[in-house]
Amino acid sequence: MKNEFKDVLREEASKIDINLTEEMLIKFEIYKELLVEWNKKMNLTAITEDYEVIMKHFVDCLEIVKYIHEGQNIVDVGTGAGFPGIVISIYFNSRIKMTLLDAQNKRLLFLEEVIKQLKLQNIEIVQGRAEELAHKDEYRQQYDIVVSRAVANLSTLLEFDSAYIKVGGKCLFLKGENVNIEIKEAKKAFDILHCELDNQYTYTYNIKGESYDRRVLSIKKIANTPPNYPRNNGQIKKNPLNQN
Ligand code: SAM
Repeated sequence: MKNEFKDVLREEASKIDINLTEEMLIKFEIYKELLVEWNKKMNLTAITEDYEVIMKHFVDCLEIVKYIHEGQNIVDVGTGAGFPGIVISIYFNSRIKMTLLDAQNKRLLFLEEVIKQLKLQNIEIVQGRAEELAHKDEYRQQYDIVVSRAVANLSTLLEFDSAYIKVGGKCLFLKGENVNIEIKEAKKAFDILHCELDNQYTYTYNIKGESYDRRVLSIKKIANTPPNYPRNNGQIKKNPLNQN
């Protein structure tokens, strides 16, 4: 990459109307370096080239900050290497509360190091399966927002995630091109889990001439999650809510 990492990130973020401060840009660069370094010893991401990290990880996840407000309590279910949770935390830092949740312990060690090096505040890491932790009082219906990217299809994602938010709270899901089909297939999940599609925000970015169509789904929870949801992993797999 000819230009400095920070200059390219600043420029690409500004194209989606996100202004990044110098402090944020420094943190993004450290995050990228840690991602590439740790990726040599554990499988964190297939994307390691500077420009692709900027576009497919950082800019892609930054779109979501437009739909988040200061003071909100957020959980990122299936955060992996911190997407979008760490990106949101770099942007808001102590002005929001963030919980990063993932089933895989190994990745959480990486996240601990990122949080330490980036001096992120108001952020915690929780290890466990989403569908199990959602039944614990400390997590159930405690959050304003639940975010997820690349974790499951929409109906399964609604089942994993919607129990975490309060009534009136929102799921913000980063989705790709198959989203229209997923929305149709998730009708039963929306009904059973008392959720409504509130808004959809599309955005596009180009990498080396190739166009990526992306969408943030904003889904509102309108009533309490039924107590028996989410079901256990076996039931979810055997009888997913996208079947009639
Ligand atoms: N969200 C990250 C991203 O966009 O790069 C990671 C995506 S990765 C393909 C899916 C992640 O979801 C993995 O880290 C996996 O461990 C986690 N995951 C999948 N099912 C889960 C579950 N039931 N409970 C908790 N984490 C889960």
